[in-house]
Amino acid sequence: MSNEKTFSRRSVVKLGVQAPFAVAATSMLAACGGEEIALCADPNALSFGENSIRQANKYTEESAEPENNCLNCAFFTPEPAGPDGEVPNCGHCSIFEGLASKNGYCDSWSTKDTGQG
Ligand code: SF4
Repeated sequence: MSNEKTFSRRSVVKLGVQAPFAVAATSMLAACGGEEIALCADPNALSFGENSIRQANKYTEESAEPENNCLNCAFFTPEPAGPDGEVPNCGHCSIFEGLASKNGYCDSWSTKDTGQG
């Protein structure tokens, strides 16, 4: 078996793994009435492991519960506010060890007040 065939199979497997995440991202855009949301964590730019942990925790870039979001989660570190006082959309999630949206949410959400959800 040549390396070319092996690479081709890997490409197909990789595409099969990544496609659902790309579809999910596209669906999120469609669900917002076509309004584009700037993704902090583009599924197409993340590794399989990074996507897996986000999927397992049901991460979403827009929380369905506005009072519970990444910005008020104990695991979120926002970027410093800009000159306009606005906190940038993307910050760091210590659970995912990567970017998350301040408006996002996942099943690991925990309040900053007590450290418990
Ligand atoms: S643990 Fe979940 S809710 Fe908390 S910052 Fe990370 S992604 Fe957001």
